[in-house]
Amino acid sequence: MAWDFATEPEFQAKLDWVREFVSDEVEALDLSLHHHVVYDKSHPVHSTVLPRLQEQVKAQGLWACHLGPDLGGLGYGQLKLALLNEILGRSTWGPMTFGTQAPDTGNAEILAHYGTAEQKKKYLEPLLNNEIVSCFSMTEPQGGADPGVFACSAVQDGDEWVINGEKWFSSNLRFAAFAIVMAITDPDVPIYQGASMFLVPTDTPGIEIIRNVGLGGEDLGDGTHAYVRYNNVRVPMENVLGGPGQAFVIAQTRLGGGRIHHAMRAVGMCQRAIDMLCERALSRHTQGSVLASKQMVQEYVADSWIELHQFRLMVLHAAWTIDQVGGHKARKEVAAVKVMTAKVLKDIVFRAMHVHGSLGVSNEMPLIGMWTMAPVFGIADGPTEVHKVTVARQVLKTYKPAETMWPSAHLPGRIAAARARFPELLEHHIANNEV
Ligand SMILES: Cc1cc2nc3c(=O)[nH]c(=O)nc-3n(C[C@H](O)[C@H](O)[C@H](O)COP(=O)(O)OP(=O)(O)OC[C@H]3O[C@@H](n4cnc5c(N)ncnc54)[C@H](O)[C@@H]3O)c2cc1C
Repeated sequence: MAWDFATEPEFQAKLDWVREFVSDEVEALDLSLHHHVVYDKSHPVHSTVLPRLQEQVKAQGLWACHLGPDLGGLGYGQLKLALLNEILGRSTWGPMTFGTQAPDTGNAEILAHYGTAEQKKKYLEPLLNNEIVSCFSMTEPQGGADPGVFACSAVQDGDEWVINGEKWFSSNLRFAAFAIVMAITDPDVPIYQGASMFLVPTDTPGIEIIRNVGLGGEDLGDGTHAYVRYNNVRVPMENVLGGPGQAFVIAQTRLGGGRIHHAMRAVGMCQRAIDMLCERALSRHTQGSVLASKQMVQEYVADSWIELHQFRLMVLHAAWTIDQVGGHKARKEVAAVKVMTAKVLKDIVFRAMHVHGSLGVSNEMPLIGMWTMAPVFGIADGPTEVHKVTVARQVLKTYKPAETMWPSAHLPGRIAAARARFPELLEHHIANNEV
């Protein structure tokens, strides 16, 4: 009987250390620096304060825990990572301090699997050492959820590939040392077989950032999500990762991990919102009593706790499933938590905000900022609708159509079959005039 919701005491001790460290040291960075600085390696914090914090993380054996031992990690697996990431998710700087920030984690995985020895030395090692950051460049301005409309292409010219086209929301390109760019290399087959992934160093001539798009609330032109044009960008033959036509196999490996990691961190954000909700409910009085004594506020507390508990168990179960059978066999579980991430975060943060009244929607509380992350989580790494389709398809795969025009649960047929199984019972019924 292996169902067990307990955390090993040794790992719990590590988690306790992380909780204290994030709250005492890392959250101070959140409060003192603009969030763009997290990926801007030219900012002095990356050569002064951050390495000191990262050394402490390394000393605890908690650096880049997502990596297997072959890449210098401890091979903790997704379940332990879920417990760690839900603490790191409380802080903007948490993932960077622990070497688990997106999109670098996914890109490192790609280079580890598909890079040449030289590429690993030049890009993977400094990425793992947190000396550089990277970008994943797949979405195009005319469409993200439907790769069938992608147009960015690459053609062979001598011993080079030449990339042309536009990409949209290429996060952190402005800070990145390299981008992994998806481009069509065989237009005569469906894109799922005809696209390839390229390692493109960002100092390659021809990369034109048209605009750095920001999220709502950020100043125009000062975002971190590049609208970029690749104009005759030339890379050597070996920069096509995993060989031509492999883009979607590679993307799937990468995006699966990214999605569940966002969900793990969102658990931490939701818990933070509940902490604020409950503290305020116990502190604020109106119309002669404390908010916590009012039934509708109690409903906020109960609904929030229940929803987070469900969500957290789903995330932990999805993580456990990946550890048991691999990410490719956990598509339904990962897609389901991806759907839940946006919904649960939206609802819980809304209640926390609401209970704080005007203060809750003001710029003196972090709640509005957290709330805007809900629609972002519902779109980044694929919209909710697409992930619901994945869940539905995976669920439907386990069913078959009815064998006749009547559903298999249709009662007349079932009763007749049951009676045919137990004729002696039928005889008893007839004898007693019960039929
Ligand atoms: C913060 C953030 C960071 C990002 N970072 C990156 C990055 O680093 N690299 C990168 O390549 N991309 C990145 N993206 C882009 C992201 O992957 C896309 O936004 C996403 O895939 C959706 O594509 P789209 O924005 O073009 O929306 P569209 O494809 O135009 O979809 C718009 C809407 O249409 C609806 N819809 C779409 N498909 C279906 C369907 N099958 N059924 C029903 N309704 C549907 C949904 O409501 C959806 O939200 C990022 C996005 C965000 C918000």
